[in-house]
Amino acid sequence: MNKGKDSFKDINKKCSFCGREKQDVTLLITGINANICDFCVDQAQSIIKEEGKSSKSKFSKFKLRKPKDIKAYLDEYVIGQEAAKKILSVAVYNHYKRIMHFDKGAKNDIEIEKSNVIFVGETGTGKTLMAKTIAKMLDVPFCIADATVLTEAGYVGEDVESVLVRLLQVADYDIAAVERGIVFIDEIDKIARKKDNPSITRDVSGEGVQQALLKLLEGSVINVPPKGGRKHPEQKMLQINTENILFICGGAFDGIDKIIATRMKANVIGYQNQNNDKNMLLDNIINYVGPQDLKKFGLIPELVGRLPIVAYLNALDKDALLRILTEPKNALVKQYAKLFEMDGITLNIEENVLEYIVDKAIEFKLGARGLRSICEAIMTDAMYDLPSKDVKEVTITREFAVEKLSNVIKANLKVA
Ligand code: ADP
Repeated sequence: MNKGKDSFKDINKKCSFCGREKQDVTLLITGINANICDFCVDQAQSIIKEEGKSSKSKFSKFKLRKPKDIKAYLDEYVIGQEAAKKILSVAVYNHYKRIMHFDKGAKNDIEIEKSNVIFVGETGTGKTLMAKTIAKMLDVPFCIADATVLTEAGYVGEDVESVLVRLLQVADYDIAAVERGIVFIDEIDKIARKKDNPSITRDVSGEGVQQALLKLLEGSVINVPPKGGRKHPEQKMLQINTENILFICGGAFDGIDKIIATRMKANVIGYQNQNNDKNMLLDNIINYVGPQDLKKFGLIPELVGRLPIVAYLNALDKDALLRILTEPKNALVKQYAKLFEMDGITLNIEENVLEYIVDKAIEFKLGARGLRSICEAIMTDAMYDLPSKDVKEVTITREFAVEKLSNVIKANLKVA
């Protein structure tokens, strides 16, 4: 401001920050002894926004990749599940493109709807892993919620808002980061409407929760108690807009294959001859899952409508489990090798040991989830003894693995 040079009359006609004349701007706001134009107000606002982001948020590196790049990133961590990875990559790309479009201030434009996702697949097939990996890639807050602990407001259990409390905690209460985060709601199939539920009693942990979840999923401003729970009635509510939060739901949907088969059978009447390979169809029946099957299973139509993207995950076969042990960026075998390397020990695992581990995981019906505990059972003694010994190399043989695992099984049987 050059107060000395300009007369008071002149000052009143100029923006004190950029010097633009009143007639050159849309709005000139007059303060006590300075003015500011609408250009400078806008600029100041974006400086505040940027400064705030970089100094406070630990989620500031948000970077959107193209669907093929997203899929390539998923490939590094998730084995198989090609269809689901592709569907998720496109959904995530569209979702965040939509956010960026509106961030740029696009108004009165074509409204792009939110693309929440639902994963259908047996337990341990990688549903949570996919959601977690995507959140890591995008560097946005991520949390997992279990649908079975949620109840309709006012009943014993957690209110659906608790899901957002968790996301707030993950994001250190950075609301801007929360509002573009990802929530994975697990076991969504367990809150299916109970068919034999008499209409007089309320289904507070089934249909009631589905109704309550609707408002989170559809995108609205939700009052969230920052400390969670109902124990602190005095706490000031935070308002969170869920419009740009991506919800990914997952469930095993046990028995949905029969629902799909029934629907498909109805559809293929008259086309039997074209469908020579009936078994192939049955093996891959989950690949045909659609919204109508989810409804039939017991999800209310409104909820199914809010989860427009349905992806399936195949059960993992022996080959996939073998790859899971060695291929992902953080594969178990790589993790153990790293741990030994830190002690200056080279770890060798014979090929037939890996097959043995996978066979046991299948035998115990543990799927990919069981690989870790079987590996631990085999490796614990070696990880206990070797750091104190002067060895540079260790080789895990099948005999060693069989002995260690059978010891653990025996010990567990004794405990049981
Ligand atoms: P769920 O489908 O029940 O959500 P998870 O994603 O939690 O299963 O999988 C459990 C564990 O099994 C993961 O942490 C991961 O180590 C492993 N896993 C499962 N599926 C895959 C997969 N397709 N690729 C790589 N690892 C997998």
